[in-house]
Amino acid sequence: MDITNLIDGLNDKQREAVAAPEQSMLVLAGAGSGKTRVLVQRIAYLMQVENISPHSILAVTFTNKAAAEMRNRVEDLLQTSVQSMWIGTFHGLAHRMLRLHYADAGLPEGFQILDSDDQHRLIKRIVKAMELDEKKWPPKQAMWYINGKKDEGLRAQHIETYGNQQEEVWKKVYQTYQQTCDRSGLVDFAELLLRAHELWLKQPQLLKHYQNRFKHILVDEFQDTNNIQYAWLRLLADADNHMMIVGDDDQSIYGWRGAKVENLQRFLTDFPDAHTIRLEQNYRSTGTILKAANTVIKNNSDRLGKSLWTQASDGETITEYAAFNELDEARFIVGRIKDWFSQGNKLAESAILYRSNAQSRVLEEALLMEKIAYRIYGGLRFFDRQEIKDALAYLRIINNRQDDAAFERIVNTPTRGVGNKSLEQIRQFARQHSVTLWDAATEMLEKQLLAGRAASSIKGFVQLISQIDNEIDDLPLYQQADAAIKKSGLLQMYQSDKGEKAQAKVENIEELITACRQFDNTEPELTDLSAFLSHAALESGENQADKHQDAVQLMTLHTAKGLEFPLVFMAGVEEGMFPSLQTTEESGRMEEERRLCYVGMTRAKQKLYITHAETRRIYGKDQYHSPSRFLQEIPADCIEEVRLNNQVSRPSSAGRFSQTVKTESFNETGFSLGQSVSHAKFGRGVITNFEGAGNQSRVEVSFDDLGSKWLMLAYARLEAC
Ligand code: ATP
Ligand code: MG
Repeated sequence: MDITNLIDGLNDKQREAVAAPEQSMLVLAGAGSGKTRVLVQRIAYLMQVENISPHSILAVTFTNKAAAEMRNRVEDLLQTSVQSMWIGTFHGLAHRMLRLHYADAGLPEGFQILDSDDQHRLIKRIVKAMELDEKKWPPKQAMWYINGKKDEGLRAQHIETYGNQQEEVWKKVYQTYQQTCDRSGLVDFAELLLRAHELWLKQPQLLKHYQNRFKHILVDEFQDTNNIQYAWLRLLADADNHMMIVGDDDQSIYGWRGAKVENLQRFLTDFPDAHTIRLEQNYRSTGTILKAANTVIKNNSDRLGKSLWTQASDGETITEYAAFNELDEARFIVGRIKDWFSQGNKLAESAILYRSNAQSRVLEEALLMEKIAYRIYGGLRFFDRQEIKDALAYLRIINNRQDDAAFERIVNTPTRGVGNKSLEQIRQFARQHSVTLWDAATEMLEKQLLAGRAASSIKGFVQLISQIDNEIDDLPLYQQADAAIKKSGLLQMYQSDKGEKAQAKVENIEELITACRQFDNTEPELTDLSAFLSHAALESGENQADKHQDAVQLMTLHTAKGLEFPLVFMAGVEEGMFPSLQTTEESGRMEEERRLCYVGMTRAKQKLYITHAETRRIYGKDQYHSPSRFLQEIPADCIEEVRLNNQVSRPSSAGRFSQTVKTESFNETGFSLGQSVSHAKFGRGVITNFEGAGNQSRVEVSFDDLGSKWLMLAYARLEAC
């Protein structure tokens, strides 16, 4: 039997893992050392050499995409289909188990999954029905409580409150929530895992069946498993099963969500015969990138400790770019991507990584301006995000009452008691009379065609829109947007949620204000608001590259786990952004943030750029950030700072400035850097930067009152002063 393609090209340690006798193993190794590759080849090896049927293999990955890739790679290696192999995420596998054994799990056949938004809504209803004050008992907190308990394997009746009043209340909410879910056949994400675990406990014969079936259990990214996931695996793997887990304690980045890196140690205690293999050669990155990442992560304590080396040459130094602001940062990144592309490389080989979702907006705009295709990996583009669409819908209806799509979207967001039934009546009326929803609603109000409660809710909405419109008519665009999101109750709605997801939504909405403030209306015949709305509409829709198109990859650092790209940019590497503000306040989280930095840096194969901005506009206000502590932790010989050759000089952040990058010249415009100018609307300022030539010339002006703004020279009508 030919196994050369399975072990050829592997190093000794990798081969030891791939071709090991059937046994339990822990592969503990740093980033890019081939853990995922070894896991895939091990599956192929088991099938080809040990004649293990794909039916007897269970493989767990961190995302569905990773699962699909893994299956493809095994099929490529073996040239045969492995459809019967179970491979997926913990949630996916638990779901599959519950579908197959719904009755044993105490679920109705047609049980439905409750996603986190639906779960939140349901809990909110319950909190209300229990007559609890939402301010004191935030539904989001109840959700974290419930999911946290489920992740610990606890049902409400298992919780010992020791007379703690607050816990008593949460426990009651948990209980009521669960009863509602059970009655309606609804299963939330945490419940999938908990029920799948209980299935083992309650149905030993079923557990036995799967223990006999899954002789080999393989788990990637094990450092990010939580308690219930571990417990589920632990039951499944009895004495005769073989577990192969691969992981890296330095890449544990989901502690905030309940992941327990201690599971690595726990595994070694629970499976004392497991063979530990350490892979130490990195195949992904250049020597410089690896050295820098290794040095940064050394600042963490409590590590299992690993050394990682590479045969690769040192390669290029890491480039640091200290931007004036986030626009300059985006422009710099896009410039480097253009260079990369013009050298014959693919866009898809480049990735821009950032700490928080809201950062994508400025990057997206810079890419769009240069007509460079991009894709947001694992998420939506800025203008496609739900909260942004909600906020824009308010602006749209303020701008144009006849916008039915906007009406539909926000008539009951935030909830104001407009039910489906009354909405259907309005739709019907609109259809019959061939009018828009707004006109239908106002006419029905006049003619008193709506029932009492519905009438007052709709009236409230109509009045709200008219009132906001009146109040903001004469304000500048960003204040219009600011007032709309506040007075509509949208911002408040998202702010009252706790949790990471809601936090990201608030950040996105705040970023919308910044977008308005930076918006440069180049269509004088339109009002700023109309022009901005068409800009937003054009930016959503067709611009995201389709699946097969070559496109730059944008994603958060968390999403980048396990992936690799020849060219990587880490943007916004500043104190307060990365590490994030919350982290600097919560002591325990700094080390996790540093691991996230390690994950980010080790995604790069050939070239890594790290950028930060001196000022960043957040919620329309300029904030001053110093470069991240992580940057300072990179050894000086691994990193070099560059500047664009036409920038106003300023002190280098880390004193590592050495090189310049060419940009287009600032010719023939009649303006010069450092010159004082005045603008009819924005007032006085100083030119701090420029780009483009001729008709396309843009300048950045630092206005006394407004902060920095990019303007097209052809439209801005700047005057020297
Ligand atoms: P991470 O910790 O980021 O998940 P990993 O340890 O899973 O990384 P892989 O993604 O499996 O690492 O491998 C990193 C890169 O190195 C991949 O491109 C892989 O194909 C390559 N690689 C791994 N082992 C070898 C080898 N023996 N020879 C050549 N290339 C290798
Ligand atoms: Mg991997």
